[in-house]
Amino acid sequence: MKELRDLREKIHKCSKCGLCQAVCPLYQITGNDCTVSRGQFIMLKGLIDGKLQMTKSLNRYLDLCLKCGKCSEFCPSGINAVDIIASAKYEYFKTDKLEKLKSFAQKHFLFGLMLNVLSIFARNKKSKTFDKKVIYFGGCGDKLIGNTAVVNILNSINIEVISPKFNCCGIPYYTRGDFENLKGCMNSYISILRKNEIREVVTACASCEKALKSYEKWCSNDEDKDFLSKLKVKNIYEFLRENNYKSKLKNKIKVTYHKPCNMHNYEDIETILNSVENLEYVKSEKYNLCCGLNGISKPKELSVMKKLFHIKRKDFENTGAKIVLTSCIGCKTALNLYSKGKYKALNMISFLNKYTQK
Ligand code: SF4
Ligand code: SF4
Repeated sequence: MKELRDLREKIHKCSKCGLCQAVCPLYQITGNDCTVSRGQFIMLKGLIDGKLQMTKSLNRYLDLCLKCGKCSEFCPSGINAVDIIASAKYEYFKTDKLEKLKSFAQKHFLFGLMLNVLSIFARNKKSKTFDKKVIYFGGCGDKLIGNTAVVNILNSINIEVISPKFNCCGIPYYTRGDFENLKGCMNSYISILRKNEIREVVTACASCEKALKSYEKWCSNDEDKDFLSKLKVKNIYEFLRENNYKSKLKNKIKVTYHKPCNMHNYEDIETILNSVENLEYVKSEKYNLCCGLNGISKPKELSVMKKLFHIKRKDFENTGAKIVLTSCIGCKTALNLYSKGKYKALNMISFLNKYTQK
């Protein structure tokens, strides 16, 4: 995790070519340069040079960014906007009492008390024993739904699942600029893994996968960095494809898929979806357009986000599918919140477990 001033050179690399404007979903809606990386970098340069102050309105633009990373994929200068915006958020976080209070409530109430109470009802299952074993990182999503789907599916291809009690991956803290709590999540993950001999970790959530893979970059302790570099972290779809997972649904079902921005291997998803018997997979035109979760969590920005939600709903409707599969708890939650009954968003692993012939 770097402070904003340490990223000065990276920000200076922006040539102001404007290619990010062509791909940024937020800029497509707002047409406002302050909502896309090019404009944000101009503001942040002013902040680093002492010509601008970190104000509520500057923070609002940092918050509006969907953190989808589309701009970075196309940026000819190779600038990682999400990392820079997180460091800028850290500048704001350090000085704003309300942000600290929100993070405190998120940690102790939402991800603490509430999830711990709800986890009593989660469907957890003990894995069968096999020679090949993996550690499963369930994240916050699994505190709600449990690990049963993952255990059933991995056991069906003779893989034993070890499910330690992990905390949050830390992504929500990262986007808020709360680097202290992010470090806490990272340290807890490392200490749990050190107690196990297995060094292969799978997760079913694209955002958790991104966080776990970023820890090495974020970590400042050399010993921990070395430990993290020796871990193999994969998402479950990559793992299933490598292990020739095959299945057949009990009945014919038509689905479409929403690709989370943090998902890097959509090809594995397609390979699996196309291989499941009785499953009709229709690829939607905007399957990789951000779900807009970041906007849902900020009620004041809902009027800006409504256009994005409308585009997403229409896109799914055009496929004729009533089920939208996805692989991130945040995306699933957002898609269901604005579905208006047009479709139901489901976690792909839960879907496969529920509808596959046993
Ligand atoms: S695409 Fe990259 S270099 Fe071009 S304006 Fe956007 S951030 Fe700057
Ligand atoms: S991360 Fe996404 S929303 Fe934010 S500036 Fe880049 S493309 Fe736009």
